[in-house]
Amino acid sequence: MHDIKLNLPRLKGKIIAVDGPAGSGKSTTARMLAARLGYVYLDTGAMYRALTHFALKRKISPSDGPALAAIAEKVPIEFETHENVNRVSINGKDVTNEIRTPEVTRHVSEVSAHKEVRKAMVAKQREMGKKGSIVAEGRDTTTVVFPHADVKIFLSASVKERASRRLLDLTKMGISTTLEEQEADIIRRDEHDSNREHSPLKKAPGAFTVDTTDMTIEGQVDFIISLIRQILK
Ligand code: C5P
Repeated sequence: MHDIKLNLPRLKGKIIAVDGPAGSGKSTTARMLAARLGYVYLDTGAMYRALTHFALKRKISPSDGPALAAIAEKVPIEFETHENVNRVSINGKDVTNEIRTPEVTRHVSEVSAHKEVRKAMVAKQREMGKKGSIVAEGRDTTTVVFPHADVKIFLSASVKERASRRLLDLTKMGISTTLEEQEADIIRRDEHDSNREHSPLKKAPGAFTVDTTDMTIEGQVDFIISLIRQILK
């Protein structure tokens, strides 16, 4: 049932934007939604992570907004989906795994808080969304990147639940960490992402909140699909 693509003409060419805090299930939800709708999946967090990884490798400080923005403007970031895995590359190099390391995670909020970095990234993201048929996911896709998206979703879940999901993901990737570390990291990133000056994480006007604390991934995707079908009736 879940593999069946929805082929309804009224669902063609739309923009679906999904925002929410770290670990709320945005990535998996957006990827599965895109697969069900036959849409492109745009993981905007992966773009900020790729930039952070690239900069750290070149010893560019996460506090150096102008230098980071210059990279964001010039260096190509590309996505390709292979067997359900969304692969990301920067400057032609596949960095899918490297962008999830604790080091990148530690610095990405600082990198993404620079106004000039956001400007460059938002321009790239809008370009990718030009043709529609896209599910974009991040912190500001409903508020800044695509404020006129056809459907706007704000995902949330308790800190405890989000930390256990992250722990599971990272453990599967062979990264050693604890629940306490993940809780602390999530609280720190929520705080940083919600209180920054430029494009803070917040619920957009017209966005639907979906609390996923007690939902399975399949359950939340089904729920959002039915929401989309009602909105785009
Ligand atoms: O979604 P993910 O956890 O991969 O995002 C990594 C970081 O990138 C976030 O904590 C946030 O600081 C930043 N980000 C952002 N705007 C977006 C997506 C992610 O600032 N649209």
